[in-house]
Amino acid sequence: MTASEIKKQDAQNVMQTYARYDVVIERGEGATLYDPDGKKYIDFTGGIGVNSIGYGNKKWADAIYEQAMKLQHISNLFLSEPYVRLAKTLTKRAGMENVFFANAGGEANEGLIKLARKYSFDKYGKGRSTIISLVQSFHGRTITTLAATGQEAFHNYFFPFTEGFLHIPAHDINALNAALTDDVCALLIELIQGEGGVIPLQKEYVAEIAKICKEKDILLLVDEVQTGVGRTGSLFAFSQYGIEPDAVTFAKGIAGGLPMGGIMANEKCSKVLTAGTHATTFGGNPVAAAGAIEVLNQLDDAALCEVTKKGEYIKGKIIGWNDPLVGEIRGLGLMLGISIREREGWPKPSAIAKKCVENGLLILTAGSDAVRMLPPLTITYDEIDKGLEILKAVLDSFK
Ligand SMILES: *Cc1c(COP(=O)(O)O)cnc(C)c1O
Repeated sequence: MTASEIKKQDAQNVMQTYARYDVVIERGEGATLYDPDGKKYIDFTGGIGVNSIGYGNKKWADAIYEQAMKLQHISNLFLSEPYVRLAKTLTKRAGMENVFFANAGGEANEGLIKLARKYSFDKYGKGRSTIISLVQSFHGRTITTLAATGQEAFHNYFFPFTEGFLHIPAHDINALNAALTDDVCALLIELIQGEGGVIPLQKEYVAEIAKICKEKDILLLVDEVQTGVGRTGSLFAFSQYGIEPDAVTFAKGIAGGLPMGGIMANEKCSKVLTAGTHATTFGGNPVAAAGAIEVLNQLDDAALCEVTKKGEYIKGKIIGWNDPLVGEIRGLGLMLGISIREREGWPKPSAIAKKCVENGLLILTAGSDAVRMLPPLTITYDEIDKGLEILKAVLDSFK
């Protein structure tokens, strides 16, 4: 099909829920993508933080091919090796007790919310079910995870939303203390708010809320759907914050591009979800698990060190531009947001991203003020330089 045929078919038979760019991607290599005409794009999006080990990764492709030929799915009525191996590596490296495998971030967070409420129900009985989350957070697109999401723009159309969520501003301990009434069972946070604008929480604040949660037996739930699996330079961001969450969700980058997500629990929460209380047909799928094992193989300590170095390299280059359009650069590792200054006649982040795409650089936006980067973690310095060159030329073109 030609690009224009694909576009026409999309409009005809696909629900128009996405404001897509006018670009068809056919294949990729490393962190470089190609359209059907061979036009080249540097990829600073990683499929929105999913393609953690890049495109055309032969070892990863071989692992999923071999698993697909052996056994592609068997259901959770039976045991199989891939998800067990993955569970062992993942929990060991994360320092968590056990894991439930799901298929995406929103679904993982649904399970996380169930876990928190059941923990409290088992121990304290009914009525202690409220979950506090942060203003500007994003936790998913299901009715319940939309309710958990602390951005008012998401609380529309689909009424009634699930009850029992309260949103408080970050970095305000008084707001937290005021919200901690007897009906609260958990606090749900992203350590770096991704969709909200790449906004990192301050370490002192996180340490303080972790302490308060522990004292009151309020579960500390960390949504690492975007920050997890090496994105910030450690396997999970919570280790850089020096906290021990009760439960953590992950998804996006875990299987290198195949759909997978999940919940990890600490010892205290490891037995909350019991037989019959939670399930999902595709959970722990052997092919996705084989892909994830290979992702974790490739994201060893040396590779994670590189993620931090590449992030610092990008930050340093952009700061060195001294570009008037650029405000601050936020984030950790290869989860970076460049805030774009707001002035009369200056471009919005969306206009910058659009022009970047036209010029051969795929890049994201986040929140109201940021251009966001979530490139494959294996991106090369050469690809970074080429991408940044395009970004700089685009910024200059607005002056
Ligand atoms: C992307 C994202 C989600 C939703 O994940 P899906 O796989 O789209 O359901 C949830 N939380 C965070 C922090 C995310 O970045």
